[in-house]
Amino acid sequence: MIKLKGIAAASGISIGLAFKLGKEEFVIPKDAINKDDIAVQIQLFEEALIKTRREIIELQKRISTEMGQEEAQIFDAHLLVLEDRMLIEEVISRLKREHLNVAYIFSEVLKKYISVFSKIEDEYLKERIADINDVGKRILRHLLGKERRAISASGEKMIIVAHDLSPSDTAAMHKQNVAAFVTDVGGKTSHTAIMAKALEIPAVVGVEGVTAKVNPNDTLIVDGSSGIVIINPDKDTLRAYGKEKEKLRGVTEGFYSAKDLPAVTTDGKTVEINGNIEFPEEVPSVKLHGGHGIGLYRTEFFYMNRKDLPTEEEHYQAYKYVAEEMKPHPVIIRTLDLGGDKFLSQFNIPREMQPFLGWRAIRFCLARPDIFKLQLRAILRASVHGDLKLMYPMISGLEELRQANKILEEAKDELKKKKVPFNNDIQVGTMIEVPSAAMTADILAKETDFFSIGTNDLIQYSLAVDRANEKVAYLYDPAHPAVLRLIKNIIEAAHSNNIRVGMCGEMAGEPHLALVLLGLGLDEFSMPAQVIPELKYIIRALSFKQAKEISDGALRLSTGKEVESFTKAKLKEILK
Ligand code: PEP
Ligand code: MG
Repeated sequence: MIKLKGIAAASGISIGLAFKLGKEEFVIPKDAINKDDIAVQIQLFEEALIKTRREIIELQKRISTEMGQEEAQIFDAHLLVLEDRMLIEEVISRLKREHLNVAYIFSEVLKKYISVFSKIEDEYLKERIADINDVGKRILRHLLGKERRAISASGEKMIIVAHDLSPSDTAAMHKQNVAAFVTDVGGKTSHTAIMAKALEIPAVVGVEGVTAKVNPNDTLIVDGSSGIVIINPDKDTLRAYGKEKEKLRGVTEGFYSAKDLPAVTTDGKTVEINGNIEFPEEVPSVKLHGGHGIGLYRTEFFYMNRKDLPTEEEHYQAYKYVAEEMKPHPVIIRTLDLGGDKFLSQFNIPREMQPFLGWRAIRFCLARPDIFKLQLRAILRASVHGDLKLMYPMISGLEELRQANKILEEAKDELKKKKVPFNNDIQVGTMIEVPSAAMTADILAKETDFFSIGTNDLIQYSLAVDRANEKVAYLYDPAHPAVLRLIKNIIEAAHSNNIRVGMCGEMAGEPHLALVLLGLGLDEFSMPAQVIPELKYIIRALSFKQAKEISDGALRLSTGKEVESFTKAKLKEILK
């Protein structure tokens, strides 16, 4: 039994078998063969091609029913690689000439292809490298007799153990049988962790060296609430965690009792508790957990795991669906926020030294008004179907807000000219997630309809801590006095200018800190759906007066640790 500690990223306990998701590398033997064996080797190669073809068609069928035809089309390019005459003939002629095993020859031909394609200055051909690589590995696996084990093939939920998972890897697992995630790297508010929460899958990230310590099919316990991962637990530990899991279920059920009641304090102050979503498919979960509306719809996930760009019609249909489903409650659509840890294959974004400080979010959109305006038009068109609002990510100052609004006006004019209906008074908000925006919130408040505080970024920028880096995760502290002061400043600036202020960063769903946010006067809290019942339960358990005392007390403290223990103690008293 080995016990490891990482960063608790998505709560819940899972017990199951490990599935290692690696950068599959093969050791390919180089064996001489007899002249007589050439025919056998050719037959092996043909069989591997047939098996691979079958495998891809199966995969394509599954993706088509689970995710849609367009996603399935990605595999057309893979099938074309299998039919490449030049590649096949080169393997066969080298086999006849060199008398070496087919797996070795095929891997050599594959390497040559990849190296030739890499040198060609053609983006389309460059992209094909990934397809060739993927198909090549499948063929090799068959040649070497290794069957690919699909995550869900065993029918049992598996625990994914990987060095790292990109947000798009995580999003792609959406429908698969995953019981938990464990990664070597990553931070609490990395988008991989956020996706795990959205999928309600327990996750522990930043567990140094976990991939080296876990073997396939090891039994694992993943405690996403405390950040503990146990490899091959003994019987007593298994029993203890089984009990803990049951207890957790009991506590959760307690919180659920209040989920459909309004989020109102004992002295009558009402706040809005909303859900964060990445996909329209998450809307039912927000409703099920008692969310009032959607406080953050991260639209960039719409661009992931596909090779083309979504059309205006596709954007429109998705937003219309969410607006209608949530009607009459509000839905805040956040415009495209790519970059940072969210890379999209469709855009040729050069690798940057500091992607979180680089060409991301609104900066990208202002540089690519074609892409931005297409999305804005779709949001405007969908605005007639419910209470849609929009907001811009990563605004760092007034000029950016004005530039974004100018493009919005152009989008409105285009629709007016075509007599397409939209809500001309759609509310336009600003995310406050850059310290410069937090410090000039009084200026921004005069030209925006509402604020939404993005603490995931605000914390990383104000404390200079990469949100996705486990090495500095100990410094990533929402309770830091600097963060609390910035939030106080933002809320006061909003209220002095008569606009509402919400928070859609993960901090809004941290129960002990929510007490402080409530006391500071936050109007709206938006969080992953699964946290909503607990937050509602807490808000209904205290008075606004009490919350104000807690926030006053917290703001007098000098360190994040002090704030954390003070607020946790207060929460315990309230829940008693
Ligand atoms: C944030 O930064 O707090 C936020 C909500 O946006 P994201 O996590 O998508 O960067
Ligand atoms: Mg952000």
